[in-house]
Amino acid sequence: MEDKKLKLSIGHLYPRLLNLYGDIGNIITIKRRCEWRGIDVEYNEINMGDSIGNCDLYFIGGGQDKQQEDVARELYKNKEYFTTLRDAGAVFLGICGGYQLLGHYYQPHDKEKLLGISLLDAYTVAGKKRFIGNVTAKTDLVNPNSLVGFENHSGLTYLQGETKPLGIVSTGNGNNGQDKTEGAYYKNVFGTYLHGSFLPKNPHFADYLIELALEKRYGEKIKLSRLNDEIENKTHELLVGKAY
Ligand code: GLN
Repeated sequence: MEDKKLKLSIGHLYPRLLNLYGDIGNIITIKRRCEWRGIDVEYNEINMGDSIGNCDLYFIGGGQDKQQEDVARELYKNKEYFTTLRDAGAVFLGICGGYQLLGHYYQPHDKEKLLGISLLDAYTVAGKKRFIGNVTAKTDLVNPNSLVGFENHSGLTYLQGETKPLGIVSTGNGNNGQDKTEGAYYKNVFGTYLHGSFLPKNPHFADYLIELALEKRYGEKIKLSRLNDEIENKTHELLVGKAY
């Protein structure tokens, strides 16, 4: 890549409704890790009724069932367009409630099924108990191979078809507390139950997503320069395997 000013566009989906447990920290991490490397970031807040645009990376945070209901209806209006974006290589990161809506549906306890946009071949049904606590999952997507965070969900997510788990749980519950999977990915669409927020504690995964989004924008692999992640890595190490 010749030495020119790189740029990255971010679409933040419905932050006024889905931003539980500080999930905005994921956006801040991506923005800062780009700006620290001199990469220009175009940040687009996408609220109800707004155009979805054509961003390199989309983020959708977590939320309670009520907020998910409102967002699900809005997302579903653009289901085909989101599929076009996914198939063109756009990067998506969904956290918890946002993750659930990237699948086929979320079935709450005593309400109508919320239809998702099927970017992931996955579905979610509300479970009887709430999973709350720290999670460590082992992934083969990045090195180090650990992802850490905090889960708080009653939804049980099951993966099918070509959608793979983001990682295998070594501490905590993950997708459903049964099959040891945590999160999901298909093409450049990623979902996880890890709040905390997720990316500040997993800077290696943040860089992985940024590189995928740059590759989508410029059509070639772009290796990011290294940052001094001493504090982030220490935080990450402290949390690996920590249950409480
Ligand atoms: N309402 C969903 C559940 O409880 C998602 C919660 C969340 O985003 N933390 O599973």
